[in-house]
Amino acid sequence: MHIAILGGGVAGVASAIAFRLKGFDVTVYERRDADTNIGAGIVVWPNAAFVLDQFGILDDMAAVSGRPRAMRRLSRAGEDLGALDIGLIDAGMGYSSLSILRMDFQRILAARLQSLGVDIRYGHKVARIDAGTVVHFENGATLTADLVVGADGRMASCARRYVTGDATPVYQGFINWIGVCEGEFDADTISDYWGTGERFGIVPVARDKAYWAGGAAQATIGARDPDDYRDELQRIFVDWPAPVRRVIAGTPVARINKIYVHDHDPVPAWHRDNLVMIGDAAHAALPTSGQGACQALEDAWHLANCIEAHPGNVDRALGAFTALRFQKTAGITLAGRGLASSLFNRDEAFCRERDRASRHADYAALARAMADGWSRHLPLGA
Ligand SMILES: Cc1cc2nc3c(=O)[nH]c(=O)nc-3n(C[C@H](O)[C@H](O)[C@H](O)COP(=O)(O)OP(=O)(O)OC[C@H]3O[C@@H](n4cnc5c(N)ncnc54)[C@H](O)[C@@H]3O)c2cc1C
Repeated sequence: MHIAILGGGVAGVASAIAFRLKGFDVTVYERRDADTNIGAGIVVWPNAAFVLDQFGILDDMAAVSGRPRAMRRLSRAGEDLGALDIGLIDAGMGYSSLSILRMDFQRILAARLQSLGVDIRYGHKVARIDAGTVVHFENGATLTADLVVGADGRMASCARRYVTGDATPVYQGFINWIGVCEGEFDADTISDYWGTGERFGIVPVARDKAYWAGGAAQATIGARDPDDYRDELQRIFVDWPAPVRRVIAGTPVARINKIYVHDHDPVPAWHRDNLVMIGDAAHAALPTSGQGACQALEDAWHLANCIEAHPGNVDRALGAFTALRFQKTAGITLAGRGLASSLFNRDEAFCRERDRASRHADYAALARAMADGWSRHLPLGA
């Protein structure tokens, strides 16, 4: 059985690893010309750590990761709004959460794929997919395969268009600037500052390095000029607590990116003919879900299991895969929207009440609920 994977991001590479580990013949096609990546960092929650363990690369990831123990919420004035005990989530799921730079994460995934004898074919941008799952690339190549896995991301997925007829993502009304910087950090603690329609998160990956995301509500999509990114951030966060101002000032401009943040409405159909979409192509969630890359890894592991469990019957395997994955990922997408609509709300009274509720939240119950939800359909537990 030959499997073609469209897209060499988190979902595509992870899926290729999962298939190769089961002995399938697999090729990955990626539009970029080389192994470059944007992005800042990722929290590998225990559900994703489980998958990385199955792939044999958890120790490699842990060696270059931070171990966050708490997520502190603070107001824009630096007042304490409570803290989530990440140790409780880890204890409930049986793996440690890790914080890692995206470049390290992708490098280790790609090295594992290479160690399994699979190369990524760069310079292959999918132009369209015709009936019968005939894939056409912009470079003139075409392909058919026994199974085509569409892992071509959230913004213009050809796989999603093939399955659903439309691949237009939904702009969710806020911008994220993301970056990586060096400095001095409390390595155990993620800091999440909440304002009115604005938010700033700092995630250490070591005592001397962190990635961060500053967000602000904006109703419409506007310009992107890298020369302006630091000034834009400094204007918005000028009077925020010192750690926020320090990371903005301390990040090289070349390491700042700006994203108008989109997701997708959940759709229950993920496959057509012998093509299935996975990762952001199937269920892009907002960064406020904290689970985008983690769910891409889960997709990879479950899809390979489903294909193996239904030999010679791709349609049944893809039906089983979608049935397993739809509700969990849809719940995560909606949870991400719920948190974003609260964090990026510009109403002062709403935000005061939100902050009051956060101060009095039952964080132990929240940690248990997160551990339960994220463990769903995985053999996890303390
Ligand atoms: C600002 C921001 C912060 C985030 N933070 C986190 C976080 O902390 N934790 C977390 O778990 N997730 C986070 N995410 C989400 C996470 O990055 C994604 O969910 C994850 O990368 C999904 O993997 P994917 O492979 O589906 O998509 P991608 O990683 O985007 O990969 C898609 C790949 O397909 C390729 N491609 C696209 N079109 C074509 C084409 N036509 N032909 C060939 N190749 C193509 C692309 O070049 C890319 O390599 C964040 C997302 C954003 C926007």
